Amino acid sequence: MNLIVPSIRARSKVFVGNIKVLLQLNCSIRQGKMPPKKKEETKTTPLLGRIGTSLKCGIVGLPNVGKSTFFNVLTKSAANAENFPFCTIDPNESRVPVPDERYDWLCQHHKPASKVPAFLLVTDIAGLVKGASEGKGLGNAFLSHISACDALFHVVRAFDDDDVIHVEDDVNPVRDLEIISEELRKKDEQFLTTRMESMERNALRGGDKKAKAEFEILKKIRDLVAEEKKDVRFGVWNANEIEVLNKHLLLSSKPVIYLVNLSEKDYIRKKNKWLLKIKEWVDARDPGALLIPFSGAFESKLLDMPDDDREAFLKEQKTSSALEKIIVTGFKTLQLQYFFTAGKDEVKAWTIQKGTKAPQAAGRIHTDFEKGFIMAEVMKFDDLKELGNENAVKAAGKYRQEGKNYVVHDGDVIFFKFNAGAGLTDKKGKK
Ligand code: GDP
Repeated sequence: MNLIVPSIRARSKVFVGNIKVLLQLNCSIRQGKMPPKKKEETKTTPLLGRIGTSLKCGIVGLPNVGKSTFFNVLTKSAANAENFPFCTIDPNESRVPVPDERYDWLCQHHKPASKVPAFLLVTDIAGLVKGASEGKGLGNAFLSHISACDALFHVVRAFDDDDVIHVEDDVNPVRDLEIISEELRKKDEQFLTTRMESMERNALRGGDKKAKAEFEILKKIRDLVAEEKKDVRFGVWNANEIEVLNKHLLLSSKPVIYLVNLSEKDYIRKKNKWLLKIKEWVDARDPGALLIPFSGAFESKLLDMPDDDREAFLKEQKTSSALEKIIVTGFKTLQLQYFFTAGKDEVKAWTIQKGTKAPQAAGRIHTDFEKGFIMAEVMKFDDLKELGNENAVKAAGKYRQEGKNYVVHDGDVIFFKFNAGAGLTDKKGKK
């Protein structure tokens, strides 16, 4: 598919960072060369959860299971890895670069003046206790904190240490998993009951049809949560139901990654008496969810070592840090991905939600890029790496020109072309 006449390529170009802007496109698209119009695409069900790219993972769990240790390790690793002044947004929120070999390769290849990776936003949430949904411990304060997150790292303690008190007296991560999951579900149950009661008193009496439809949906959700005792994310929801769910962002609708905090010794020898039991619980209660063993103590120790010592130590122990896997999994669980823009000026990973089409992806860079979108010139990272440079990719016929229906893939290396005048046009088409 060739959208543009060759002469257009020679027209004046302005550089905005490493994004070339085609200024004049008055004779842009050669007649008869437009791709055949694609059929109306099948409607996809919207995603459950917030829309956007500044989605975040919250760390939940009982007190003293290692949540803050994990959060501090993440924050410290971010500060160590990159020289970003804004790694810590506030004391409980951190911005952690997402490790990616493709990004590293692009930086190595272009040696750009500016490098911007993708970031995972992580929030440390105060520990929950049994009965939190009824106000125990910090009680209801946790609701808004968890509600503001889009996925959860659920940390459980599987390390023995007599010096660290356990709120339930002994170490039993399976019981702890059940406590936290139940508190989240019960909080949703309470919320739905209260909301429905209030609607019955107000909106429904007035015969409001829209309110009636919403009430029916809330009832269906409540039946699942309160009667079947299941989390919201296990329901099968249609687009209307998801619209209602996304208004309330219920706690049990958020995807969970289970992080099992082991002692350093158990982590290194990859053995712990609880692991199998935890896996069985996750498979039964949250099928498909990921369980990642780590050790807060071990990760802290690693971060305090000079780089050379760390490498030697890891080699000697035949192990590696679990942080990369946790960060990457967290990012993917948020349904986020990124594409790259890459050049001498800058290599940058641009975060988008899965399923984002080329014009909206361009809009991440600048709204004018979306308004005046013409095409995306796309290289697959693997092709670029294999063939070595952009010209070789072109010569191999693998440099693709994609139109407005192109769904951007994770790791695409993109160069957008857009009509710079489009953003200045008013609704009547006058400049
Ligand atoms: P939080 O209340 O869940 O945030 O727990 P913290 O991160 O504050 O940890 C509670 C205590 O457990 C602290 O004294 C930590 O040093 C300790 N701790 C955290 N992770 C580990 C671990 O992997 N092994 C051991 N032995 N202690 C740990």
